[in-house]
Amino acid sequence: MGAFGTGLFKGMAVTARNFIGSYFDRERLVTVQYPEERIQPPENSRTFPFLVYDGTPENMRCVACKICETECPPQCIYIVMDRDEKGKPLQRPKVFDIDISVCMQCQICVEVCPFDAIKMDNDYEKSQYGRFEELVEHLPDLLKSNEYYHRIKPTEAAAVDARLKAEAEKKAKKAATTAKPAPKPATTSQAAAKPPAPPAAQPKPAPAASAVTAGKIVIPEDAPFSAEQRAWLAGFLSSIGVTTSVASVPSTAPAPATVPAAAEQAPVAAETETAAATAETTAATPSDAPWHDPGLSMAQRMELAKDRPLADKLMAAMAQTDCHACGYDCRGYADAIAAGTEKDLTLCLPGESETAAMLEKILKEAGRL
Ligand code: SF4
Ligand code: SF4
Repeated sequence: MGAFGTGLFKGMAVTARNFIGSYFDRERLVTVQYPEERIQPPENSRTFPFLVYDGTPENMRCVACKICETECPPQCIYIVMDRDEKGKPLQRPKVFDIDISVCMQCQICVEVCPFDAIKMDNDYEKSQYGRFEELVEHLPDLLKSNEYYHRIKPTEAAAVDARLKAEAEKKAKKAATTAKPAPKPATTSQAAAKPPAPPAAQPKPAPAASAVTAGKIVIPEDAPFSAEQRAWLAGFLSSIGVTTSVASVPSTAPAPATVPAAAEQAPVAAETETAAATAETTAATPSDAPWHDPGLSMAQRMELAKDRPLADKLMAAMAQTDCHACGYDCRGYADAIAAGTEKDLTLCLPGESETAAMLEKILKEAGRL
């Protein structure tokens, strides 16, 4: 143990060495001459959220699905979806405000965004003279380019780009596969052009709803099982990877509203006229949902689905963003409502009250409410 007080002198020696050394070696300078000089914050530092756009600000990634608004713990995000002059949703925000005097920088909005549209900034120069409006960031303040994102968080931004690219390629591949051979079930106009179809060939309401959608299995409601048995069976079949054979679960119901795996079933349907005729009585496959376009208005979507089974009509009432705000994709939510396993009609956040009202109307018309 050294003599009393030597530690103090050792410390002062270190300070003196760095003080004098800083005149000869910049590495010994521990202060930054802010604001003339600024140091780049570390990549994993974070301040407040910003919205990413690709190329130009019009090309923002945000689709105004409002998941972040819903999930933000202190409720400091406020979003209004943009609409055209006819009231058609444009799948982008008209208003996107974040009150940074309330934001607690938790990053939950970033975690829940399915579109990689919102990220955490590391800009720390946010001081303002005002305490109210001055601390609310609006859409123009929040929009920043993907290049900016790469500058502040290169590793994270590169990983996001790679993921988005892989997803885009997967989607393109899937679209190419499903677009291939499938002779689609006849549309309304095709059906009308055919020789008089027997009444049995008309689309039937599908109280039993779909069997499989997007990997989600729903056992028809009137299958000879109790609710618990149906739930268990669906879980069990999912767990062992069954996706296509569930459609053949014994049921006295009309054909299920959704025929699984269009690409797999299409060649079979192509073999015989009978199969094609059968397809007329069934609901649309996931690849045959012409209303699945967020650019279409509610009226246009409902027109396209007007002769389809219940699950398809319900799906057409959704906002078609597949944003999962409801906990499903659009098809899954519609199927769950049709099957009676989902009772809440207000889960489609981007569709807002328009979708909720239409779902209620469809169910009332089908005698389900
Ligand atoms: S969660 Fe939805 S509303 Fe929020 S930033 Fe992402 S896309 Fe936009
Ligand atoms: S960081 Fe947290 S508190 Fe701030 S906007 Fe996002 S979710 Fe809300």
